[in-house]
Amino acid sequence: MSISVVLFTCDLRLHDHPPLAAALDGTEQVVPLFVRDRAVDAAGFAAPNRLAFLADCLRDLDAGLRERGGRLVLRSGDLVDQVRKVAAEADADEVHMTSDVSAHAHRREERLRGVLEAEGVRLHVHDTVTTAVAPGGVVPAGSDHFAVFTPYFRRWSQERLRDPLAAPRTVTVPDGVDSEPLPSRDDLSGLSEGLAAGGETEGRKRLTAWLRTGLAGYEDRHDDLAGDATSRFSPHLHFGTLSPVELVHRARRAGGPGAEAFVRQLAWRDFHRQVLAARPAAAAADYRTQHDRWRSERTAGQDIEAWKEGRTGYPIVDAAMRQLRHEGWMHNRGRLLTASFLTKTLYVDWRIGARYFLDLLVDGDLANNQLNWQWMAGTGTDTRPNRVLNPVTQAKRYDPDGSYVRRWVPELAALEGPAVHEPWKLRGLDRAALDYPDPIVELSEGLARFKQARGRD
Ligand SMILES: Cc1cc2nc3c(=O)[nH]c(=O)nc-3n(C[C@H](O)[C@H](O)[C@H](O)COP(=O)(O)OP(=O)(O)OC[C@H]3O[C@@H](n4cnc5c(N)ncnc54)[C@H](O)[C@@H]3O)c2cc1C
Repeated sequence: MSISVVLFTCDLRLHDHPPLAAALDGTEQVVPLFVRDRAVDAAGFAAPNRLAFLADCLRDLDAGLRERGGRLVLRSGDLVDQVRKVAAEADADEVHMTSDVSAHAHRREERLRGVLEAEGVRLHVHDTVTTAVAPGGVVPAGSDHFAVFTPYFRRWSQERLRDPLAAPRTVTVPDGVDSEPLPSRDDLSGLSEGLAAGGETEGRKRLTAWLRTGLAGYEDRHDDLAGDATSRFSPHLHFGTLSPVELVHRARRAGGPGAEAFVRQLAWRDFHRQVLAARPAAAAADYRTQHDRWRSERTAGQDIEAWKEGRTGYPIVDAAMRQLRHEGWMHNRGRLLTASFLTKTLYVDWRIGARYFLDLLVDGDLANNQLNWQWMAGTGTDTRPNRVLNPVTQAKRYDPDGSYVRRWVPELAALEGPAVHEPWKLRGLDRAALDYPDPIVELSEGLARFKQARGRD
């Protein structure tokens, strides 16, 4: 009897799952395995919001496997040790898993390959599971990755994607391979109140609804902060409960400008993954240094605290930071302008902002988070590294009647229309009645400091 282990990592689904399909194709029984990797926890990625979403995903994956006659095996510890142990317990000949892009993932895969090979077990690593186009799948002449999005997107768009795979009908798991109890979000504390539910079932429900009612309007509405009209697929893409290949196929089949704009965003995700795969150090170090001497916790402690707490005195920045804390998620336009405010207006190190986002974001993702932070800090792939987003102009453009600010900053709820974006313009008793801080910095001062730092004054 031939047996395979399918190691689930950031691909917690049954639909369109190449490692599972390949294992079921070649063997009679499979062990669906997830390992809580201690090294990932120790590196600070075990944030409560993501652990809760992960718990939902594991329970849903287990339920989906049980409907098909199988079950999920959960272990925790060193991932390589655990996979080796489970492969030995099941007497498996092969292990199938999904490729990943971080330095840790590369090292882990190499170590796993060595350990398994020594025991006569083959490791198969599959790509296009968590990206539509594999990192390195398209490269420019003379380089191992694209450093600029537009030419990348041109090539990415011409790639022929594989067809999505159906979910398996039956999964047979051998006896005698025990599982630890699955975690539950009820056992966790410190969660954001408005945290989304995880799991493939939930992701697929969202997908159906999005194709019916969201996609067509995406191009016009994706920047409307109050409208909240984006897909909110990001945690599902991070945990792999939705497949990028399937999303691109289904959006293209729907067609139209909304679908095109949405597919372009999925390409941004692949773009950042191919940058990180080629330059793993970009998770912590400038991709393109501008020789910044950033302000730090020591020199800008109060400004950083005000930014984190959503009390900078700039309502649009504060609204977005409070959405992050409340939901463990923030609208993309909010992420852009809060990151610009921290790195450019306050001239604080992008790593401090990126760390705080990773502590809270349910979709917190090394490639997308660190490289978007670097993009906004001007140390990444942006071809205009010194652009600064003015929070007042941004607020008037993307929250024209102020509803987003009133939703998240109740102290300002009585202010009508766009006046809510500039409470400092109120006079006398009207201003005194507001329990809301004055701006912690003048925008002109922040801009002058940034220009001087970048040698542009
Ligand atoms: C400072 C900063 C930090 C960010 N950190 C993360 C992060 O940790 N995890 C994360 O998934 N995204 C991150 N993003 C990218 C983006 O903001 C989110 O993916 C998006 O807001 C998620 O909402 P959505 O799923 O409704 O997106 P939609 O607008 O519906 O887009 C669909 C999908 O496309 C991808 N996508 C959209 N915009 C981007 C982008 N700019 N870069 C890469 N992929 C994109 C996402 O996977 C998203 O789910 C960050 C952006 C910035 C500016």
